[in-house]
Amino acid sequence: MKKRNVAWLVGVAAVLPLAYGMGATALIRTAGYRVTKRLPTGKGIALTFDDGPHPVYTVQLLDLLKRHGVKATFFVVGENVRAYPEVVKRMHKEGHQIGIHHDQHTSSWLLTPSQLKRELIETHRAIVDVTGEPPTLYRPPWGFMNAATLFVTRSYQIVLWSHVFQDWKVKGCEKGMLDGLRRVRDDGSIVLLHDDGSNPGADDLAPAHMLDKLSKYLEEVSHKNIEFVHVQDSLID
Ligand SMILES: [Zn+2]
Repeated sequence: MKKRNVAWLVGVAAVLPLAYGMGATALIRTAGYRVTKRLPTGKGIALTFDDGPHPVYTVQLLDLLKRHGVKATFFVVGENVRAYPEVVKRMHKEGHQIGIHHDQHTSSWLLTPSQLKRELIETHRAIVDVTGEPPTLYRPPWGFMNAATLFVTRSYQIVLWSHVFQDWKVKGCEKGMLDGLRRVRDDGSIVLLHDDGSNPGADDLAPAHMLDKLSKYLEEVSHKNIEFVHVQDSLID
């Protein structure tokens, strides 16, 4: 084979995975098709929590939300649902919305279309087994999507976020999270937080710090008339 042809093939081989993952993510996010970053009603604040359930932190979070009468949306990891079904049962019983993250918190950039489908099916099944209610929302880990995401996830609404504060790091919680929360307006903002710190790049102890700041924030705004809403209630079909 000619040198020029080899170089061309190497180039294509290098670009294809980038287009499949990173390129598709940028395209879908920019186009905004079937992707929700802000509640279309333009009202309230949706608190959303990714990566749980965690046997300690999610329970503490549920206690905190209950104390303030706040309903939230949880994007759960399938294997954690199977490990801690009682926590998810409580989540559902207390009126929180439950959506799909992935079965094992894998990046969509590394998944073939059939592997992505498997992640959704397994998590969907785990949620239904515990709650009896089929999930309708999906949030990809790290917000990473691939060229097959829109097709494979077509029966779900993809939910991203309008606000995120690096709360997966202890430093992120301590440095800017509380001030960041104070700046969130109740105009349909979707806030992304994490109730598990065991994923790559996160700190194990970060959720304890997240809970501390969230508790202070909810205390501060308890006299204000802020409505904390489900993502689900706010989406227009
Ligand atoms: Zn995640």
